[in-house]
Amino acid sequence: MKALVLEKAMEIVHREVPDPVLDDDRSVLVRVKAVSICGSDVHGMDGSTGRRIPPIIMGHEAAGVIEKVGKSVRDYKIGDRVTFDSTIYCGECHFCRKGTPNLCDNRRVLGVSCDEYRRDGAFAEYVVVPERILYPIPAKLDFVSAAMTEPLAVGCHAARLGKPDLGESIAVIGAGLIGLLLIQALRANCSGTIVAVDMDEGRLAAAKKYGADVVVKAGPDAAEKVRAVTGRGVDLAFEAVGASAPIATAIDSLRKGGRLVLIGNVSAKVEMPLQKIIARQIQITGSNAIESEYPLALALMESGKVDVKSLVSAVVPLAEGPSWMKRLYDREPGLLKVVLEP
Ligand SMILES: [Zn+2]
Ligand SMILES: [Zn+2]
Repeated sequence: MKALVLEKAMEIVHREVPDPVLDDDRSVLVRVKAVSICGSDVHGMDGSTGRRIPPIIMGHEAAGVIEKVGKSVRDYKIGDRVTFDSTIYCGECHFCRKGTPNLCDNRRVLGVSCDEYRRDGAFAEYVVVPERILYPIPAKLDFVSAAMTEPLAVGCHAARLGKPDLGESIAVIGAGLIGLLLIQALRANCSGTIVAVDMDEGRLAAAKKYGADVVVKAGPDAAEKVRAVTGRGVDLAFEAVGASAPIATAIDSLRKGGRLVLIGNVSAKVEMPLQKIIARQIQITGSNAIESEYPLALALMESGKVDVKSLVSAVVPLAEGPSWMKRLYDREPGLLKVVLEP
């Protein structure tokens, strides 16, 4: 089959590789129809994250058609249209049995190679995944939309962890792809005021289009402007960047006793205003991947309550992947999400 192989840092080659084989009787071979490029693939390809150690076929946000099934596969058959979790979890450890497979002790993310494991992903014509991580694609949804299920589900997981109550005010700091999906997921489920904060005017305009009531330009006075919307600060904030300054903005935007969900994951370490967190009794939660939000994400897209299509900047053949990865890496203005079609 043809695949995009990260052969060394910053060097992706479209070439022939052996077809993948089923892992076991419970796995399936999926013919990939659409796979979207994640920010973690773009940042990861320069070697800085240690999670894309070459050689590796990246890609974990995909949709396709089942082409082969292991003999113990029960719920799926050849020809089924499917998407799948980005995390291959074991289904047997303490955390899987508790219903938190995103915290699995044996988790392996598709298209990731690190010190502990290597698992080829979906920047390829075919990918093998276990049956337990599959989800059927509703008939109304096309493959490009279905390839956006994973990032939308990531946003939905963060939204659920924030436990937004009816009418609560919410700030979303960072209106990149995940921030914009999060705003849409919150808008579909919450009636309170949503405030979006970002440095980029284009992203703020998008945030407004996708449901933010108020938008605020990031900067030293951003938190004051967010607080002014409610008079005392928002009940709930999401940080979707992953750096010290936006985290400080998020904390300063909250009312006393407010909740903060951290979803941005760019820097390994950040500064935290400890005394403010304690004195203002802020609750902080980290949000990791997806717990059980795939059906919710698929339903939000199917009903049209969330629009993922307009977030896709380009749909291009797999062979053009290397040049588009470079353009994303170089942060070409206006490029948000690129979907590859093998
Ligand atoms: Zn991703
Ligand atoms: Zn597990």
